[in-house]
Amino acid sequence: MHKRWTRRRLPVLVFTFSIILYVDFQLRTSSNPPTLRALPRHPPPGGALLLQRAIQQAPDAAAEDARRAAAGDPTSAGAARHHVTRPDLGQEDIFIAVKTTGRFHETRLALLLETWISRTKAHTFIFTDMEDEDVSSEGYNVVVTGCQSDHSQQALSCKMSAEYDGFMASDKRWFCHVDDDNYVNPEALLSLLSAFPPEGDIYVGKPSLDKPITAHELLEGNATREVRFWFATGGAGFCLSRRLAEKMAPWASGSRFEKTSATIRLPDDCTVGFIVEKRLGVSMVHCPLFHSHLENLLLVNHRSIPHQVTLSYGMFENKMNSIEVKGGFSKEDDPSRFKTVHCLLYPFTSWCP
Ligand code: UDP
Ligand code: MN
Repeated sequence: MHKRWTRRRLPVLVFTFSIILYVDFQLRTSSNPPTLRALPRHPPPGGALLLQRAIQQAPDAAAEDARRAAAGDPTSAGAARHHVTRPDLGQEDIFIAVKTTGRFHETRLALLLETWISRTKAHTFIFTDMEDEDVSSEGYNVVVTGCQSDHSQQALSCKMSAEYDGFMASDKRWFCHVDDDNYVNPEALLSLLSAFPPEGDIYVGKPSLDKPITAHELLEGNATREVRFWFATGGAGFCLSRRLAEKMAPWASGSRFEKTSATIRLPDDCTVGFIVEKRLGVSMVHCPLFHSHLENLLLVNHRSIPHQVTLSYGMFENKMNSIEVKGGFSKEDDPSRFKTVHCLLYPFTSWCP
């Protein structure tokens, strides 16, 4: 009697148990969130540096994995994840806006065209204030804005506004801004952006301050209100996902960007932070892979250079602030170190020693 009962029930039990095992396995393998989504959006009080270090270590694996995925390695977790959810992000999905001005075409822009822009020509857009036959005739995307050519808050906001509108009119999935003293590593940039959820509201870059900036927002009737928010310094470059950029339109499209900038009386990069954090309530993602010349660039570790998303150079207290990297070019021939970095990343470039 007991035996017969067991014989009848056993297959049912085995079947039920297999279903449970299968569902459990599916749940475990499908909830594999990109590393960066899990990161805290706000640094702990007074712990900005610590957080930066934590992030620096954390995405290394993600970056490595994304790099492998980008290189078509199907064994990377990223490749598996992306193939399930959407087509992989490609270089051509990233709109790179470079801000420059007429008098820097020869002294700064030429170096970028020779180095990293030579690898990203089709999806890089140069926003300037002066026509330049030499550059346009080479097939680069040059946008001559009607903006003033100075370093004023208004002139810089005018150019950022043109960059934003240019991106919105494009079919690209990411907007990235850089200055004309930035080196962009396209592969590191792609790896970073590939690690984010494809439909996320993402604003990623690096702050130049160790705490949120305080602004006085101009209200109606000349009243003001104190607001605090993080912003990614424009001199290190930053990126916005399309979904977030679209949400910014009420404060950023057309003439609105300059109006918003005037409301807080702060430059273009602060205005982006203000719109994202205070108007939309989205927190900036702090990423240590972006670099401006406001930081000590000697601290960028030589071995980490291929993983850095942006680099920069500039004068600080009458001395050149640039990264330390050895290679075929002397400091006299390559004070920014951009040529040396480029040859490290792309050793088969014709002019590399
Ligand atoms: N810039 C500009 N007009 C100027 C000076 C600078 O459009 O009169 C641009 C420049 O091309 C660069 C950015 O603004 O992309 C920042 O300029 P710079 O690096 O000279 O100054 P920083 O703000 O980094 O000290
Ligand atoms: Mn600069």
